[in-house]
Amino acid sequence: MPNKTMHRARGANAAVEDYLASCGEKGHPPDIVTMVAVAWLGGVAGNLPDYLDDPARGPSHRGWAHSLEAYGFLHGLYIKARKEGRTVEAAVLRAAMTHHEEDAQTPAGLPSLLEILFRRFFN
Ligand SMILES: [Zn+2]
Repeated sequence: MPNKTMHRARGANAAVEDYLASCGEKGHPPDIVTMVAVAWLGGVAGNLPDYLDDPARGPSHRGWAHSLEAYGFLHGLYIKARKEGRTVEAAVLRAAMTHHEEDAQTPAGLPSLLEILFRRFFN
């Protein structure tokens, strides 16, 4: 099960990779200060769903911020930012998506909003 440190590292890595890929596509050299900022922001974004859904509540803490729909929303924003050349924003969104990708590989997986609502009202 990924912990806070793993999510932070994966988010930072994904953000830097995405930033470097964007720089390559645009044909301009990466800026080291921007890259460090992107790594830090990516580390924070990698834990974003856990800041919104308190993990102290145990494995069933996965609420709306961990939902499939939240992942889809972030993905949509990421594609739009990438298309419009907003490099840093795209890198940070990509980092936030890694949280869902890692949590989806655990036995609890990612719930849909419908599942979350059902759990809240019928359990
Ligand atoms: Zn989580």
